[in-house]
Amino acid sequence: MIRLNDITSSLLGYHPEADVSLVEKAYVYSAKVHQGQVRLSGEPYLSHPLEVAHILTQMKMDVISVVAGLLHDTIEDTGAELSEIERLFGKETANIVDGVTKISKMKFSDSEERQAENMRKMILAMATDIRVIIVKLADRLHNMQTLGFQPPEKQRLIAKETLDIYAPLAGRMGIYWMKSTLQDLCLYYLEPEIYAKIKSDLAERKGDREKFIEEVKALLSQKLKEANINAAIKGRHKNLYSIYTKMKEQNLSPNQVYDILAFRVIVDSLKECYEVLGLIHSTWKPIPGRFKDYVSLPKANMYQSLHTSVIGPLGQRMEIQIRTWEMDKVAEEGIAAHWKYKEGLVASKTDEKQIKWLRQLLEWQKSLQDPKEFMETVRMDLFPDEVYVFTPKGEVKEFPKGATPVDFAYSIHSEVGNKCIGAKVNGRMVPLRYELKNGDTVEIITSNKHEPSKDWLEFVKTPRARTKIRQWIMKQERAQSIELGKEILEKSIEQARLNLPNILKNEQIAAVARDLSFHSTEDLLANLGFGKVSAKQIIARLKPSLGIEEQPHPGIVSKVVSRIKRKKSTHGIKVKGLDNMLVRFANCCHPLPGEHVVGFITRGRGVTIHKYNCRHILDAEPDRVVEVVWEPSDHDLYLAKLKVVTTDKKGILADISSIIAQNNANILQAQIQTTIDKKGVSLFTIEVENYKQLQTIMGAIKKIKNVLIVERA
Ligand code: MN
Repeated sequence: MIRLNDITSSLLGYHPEADVSLVEKAYVYSAKVHQGQVRLSGEPYLSHPLEVAHILTQMKMDVISVVAGLLHDTIEDTGAELSEIERLFGKETANIVDGVTKISKMKFSDSEERQAENMRKMILAMATDIRVIIVKLADRLHNMQTLGFQPPEKQRLIAKETLDIYAPLAGRMGIYWMKSTLQDLCLYYLEPEIYAKIKSDLAERKGDREKFIEEVKALLSQKLKEANINAAIKGRHKNLYSIYTKMKEQNLSPNQVYDILAFRVIVDSLKECYEVLGLIHSTWKPIPGRFKDYVSLPKANMYQSLHTSVIGPLGQRMEIQIRTWEMDKVAEEGIAAHWKYKEGLVASKTDEKQIKWLRQLLEWQKSLQDPKEFMETVRMDLFPDEVYVFTPKGEVKEFPKGATPVDFAYSIHSEVGNKCIGAKVNGRMVPLRYELKNGDTVEIITSNKHEPSKDWLEFVKTPRARTKIRQWIMKQERAQSIELGKEILEKSIEQARLNLPNILKNEQIAAVARDLSFHSTEDLLANLGFGKVSAKQIIARLKPSLGIEEQPHPGIVSKVVSRIKRKKSTHGIKVKGLDNMLVRFANCCHPLPGEHVVGFITRGRGVTIHKYNCRHILDAEPDRVVEVVWEPSDHDLYLAKLKVVTTDKKGILADISSIIAQNNANILQAQIQTTIDKKGVSLFTIEVENYKQLQTIMGAIKKIKNVLIVERA
């Protein structure tokens, strides 16, 4: 078991001025809160944070990271409060412990690749401090090293999670040794038989391999010496997991996988890199398409090397990397040095952001020479434009920053969105405009009675939610328009005395709809409701199909009407539906009141009234014939405007109105204003039969108390 002393001496080894007292304080605190807890291995729980802290010192991490390593499980597993950790160990440490705790709480449920990618992104996004991920990786490494104490089911689950999420994360962080170690441990638990086979095959051929490596090294050294190049040569076999991947890809057994050897030649200068390359290519046959020049074209993470593959002395393929000592340092120690290195994967679109991030990271790294200073200074928002949240089932969903529970609801199903009435985030109710945060678990509450609101458009962030809400509103408005259109048409049908009981199912109406190039009766009604088509138009088209003569086209009617402007019908006849028409009686048929009559719209002379069976009408253009009825009253009505000035007193308006009504006149309009000197000025528009009636009314109003002036306006 690792002891505190191992940690502090390891720390002091690379960081002589390190504040060891803080590490000791963290050790004491961790020991206190974990007291009595035991790991599955039977060891005291404290052994785990000690191991994690030790791994962090092996990674040459700063004091804060080592302290956070000692404390990383205190919040989750003991009653420790974050505020207490902040008080005792500072804000930075508390922030890292908090981040590690949050990541540990996340459930991994789906093994789909896309899901794993989202998971990795979420972890990166949640870590406001890069050390969160490094501490988490150290934690995971020790858990994997002690996985044997877990029940088999859990072993598989944790190994799968590590392989899909943490090993690639380690790769992305450039901690390549961590990535290979994790991968090999995962292989051991996930494919124990294959693992054993590869391992034994490697062991079996160990002698041969070592002999071969020595042979290559000797040959190369000789050539380099001749060329007067000072270089170090390293040879090794690839990790078990990458041999396993090659086996799977090429469908081979372990001993059929030849290119398991990788050599590295490290030289003093850039110029020598290319000299060595030339030398190698002239010694062994290069494999076409395998040469990569990351020296003149460094990877986004600043990785630099020349890569080539050649057919070796025994006909074996071997990979050779050539770089300077400086490049080697970047590749070994740089945070992202081995990003996607040797994975045989091309950066996808979704990786662009990470590349951007890494580039930025390395920019910072360049300007901060001391890696520890870099670690301490960098606070980053890794994916500032995205937020990752969980469904209640543990599935990860990605949203633009600022997205709300409504966006979440629509991402599940448009029905869930439409019926979304509320949301719970991490078990607590939140308003629908709540901004989702990384790692939130979101649960949508729906109600069948609920409907989307136009207001939602103000705060939703995803195009999907926006579109769905708009669609719903349009559908809703259409439904209202159909209802309104139906009402209007029913009324018009009634007025036209047609017998059409069921508008929606009526074949004649459906035919009219088609005539007017609408898709359906509903469509026709919606447009009627919107006012894009008139009821008259529809009725006019309905009549012929019902054996009734067609009405004049309203287009022409309104055109004519606009030319004939006179106040009032004065002949006891009224053109149905059209007020204020100039009307004359035809000289050909002399219609009398009460007789069945129709109107004929003349050009510029108003409407002429004919008997319905007059031959002039039978020959007339149907469009110009309008339906007319006899006005019930023989009286002519005149409009009069009255101005009444009163002292401002409540009830005076009622008094005036009742006088007008008592004298059988109609009030068409009334306006009341109060002047600065608190007088009431009322304007009435009334309908009277004659001047005498108007005089009577004016006289009566004058007699009302508080009325000052009555006059015609
Ligand atoms: Mn832990």
